Amino acid sequence: MAKFRTLDTVGDDLGDITGKVALVRVDLNLPMNDGSVTDDTRVRASAPTILELADKGAKVLLLAHFGRPKGARNSEQSLSMVVGCVQEVLGREVMFVPEVAGDVVKQAIGILRPGDIAILENTRFWPGEEKNDPELAKAIAANGDFYVNDAFSAAHRAHATTEGIARILPSYAGRSMEAELVALEKALGDPERPVAAVVGGAKVSSKLDVLQHLVTQVDHLIIGGGMANTFLAARGVNVGKSLCEHDLAATAEAILEAADKSGCTVHLPYEVVVSKEFAANPPSLRTCNIHEVAADEMILDVGPASAEALGDVLKTCRTLVWNGPLGAFETEPFDRATVALARTAAALTREGSLVSVAGGGDTVAALNHAGVAGDFSYISTAGGAFLEWMEGKELPGVAILEQRLQQG
Ligand code: ADP
Ligand code: MG
Repeated sequence: MAKFRTLDTVGDDLGDITGKVALVRVDLNLPMNDGSVTDDTRVRASAPTILELADKGAKVLLLAHFGRPKGARNSEQSLSMVVGCVQEVLGREVMFVPEVAGDVVKQAIGILRPGDIAILENTRFWPGEEKNDPELAKAIAANGDFYVNDAFSAAHRAHATTEGIARILPSYAGRSMEAELVALEKALGDPERPVAAVVGGAKVSSKLDVLQHLVTQVDHLIIGGGMANTFLAARGVNVGKSLCEHDLAATAEAILEAADKSGCTVHLPYEVVVSKEFAANPPSLRTCNIHEVAADEMILDVGPASAEALGDVLKTCRTLVWNGPLGAFETEPFDRATVALARTAAALTREGSLVSVAGGGDTVAALNHAGVAGDFSYISTAGGAFLEWMEGKELPGVAILEQRLQQG
């Protein structure tokens, strides 16, 4: 059973929504270069929600932040810049309204016809947004009939347009939020076992909370990337010049102990790809056992035999969550282990034996590089929110939707 209301129940609650005003929180924090949008993925993610509401006759007002304007207006961060891109993706005309509340918004609503779409100004131009000021939430809500949150990527923030407003209006998860929550629930909430997690990337320190939470949740924890070096060093392996947080040896040990207690098997590489310099295809490139790393070498990837063994672990699992590449995948050939394991996960997913969920900025880039992003069950592009979810934290923007369902 869903723990929150979705667009399926808008009609049951509110009846015909023709002419009603939907305040829809979306992610329009788009990558820009020289004033034009370079990647419209986030707009495409929310297009189904926006079009569904518009096609049901609602007047759709989009709420979103852009950048970090710190509570003051500035022309460089006006959301007017993304109107063209949103129009193109939606294939509809979109009005721009240079306010988020008050009479200007009210007048705009008067002009809009049922099914029309408008973008309101950057919510972070108002200091009350990030402070989750109830007065701002009330002022924005005053112009709407209901609220839809389709921005999972902003749900880890308790802001006026991600949390406060949901306390006031009837509130729903949009289609993209719904898909994300369903996928995440399948991966860690109520997963089919055994569950494997792959955690890689540069540093243990940036993912301590992730590791600590996962060892209590999953059956197999595969550690790769720079952070594996910290674990290996803690176990007495000489990692040479590798990226390694030697000061976290005790922490790494504690994580391994916690895993042991929870019945979680931790998989560290036993074979690695090393080189004396960090460059593409360096002359000193070689593959060796973890106990043969020289003092002037650094570990830059998991070795091929070790990667294959990790693939065998995945073959025994039903669910996979993945965050962080196994090696310095941006530089050849240190992408090999990540690509190999990603392809194994993709093949198992295609066969139907594995539910695979991945997220994280570099992880998504690595899976795209491996050409398998489309084969995973779900790829989260949410960044910070995805990591906080992997840490087992409650996301305020999600929690309020669940709370509102219980309150009816
Ligand atoms: P994500 O963005 O998916 O959460 P991270 O930012 O934690 O992932 O980690 C990605 C970075 O980790 C990449 O830039 C990659 O080059 C780096 N990395 C992975 N393995 C190593 C390694 N052995 N040595 C140095 N850097 C590494
Ligand atoms: Mg990153």
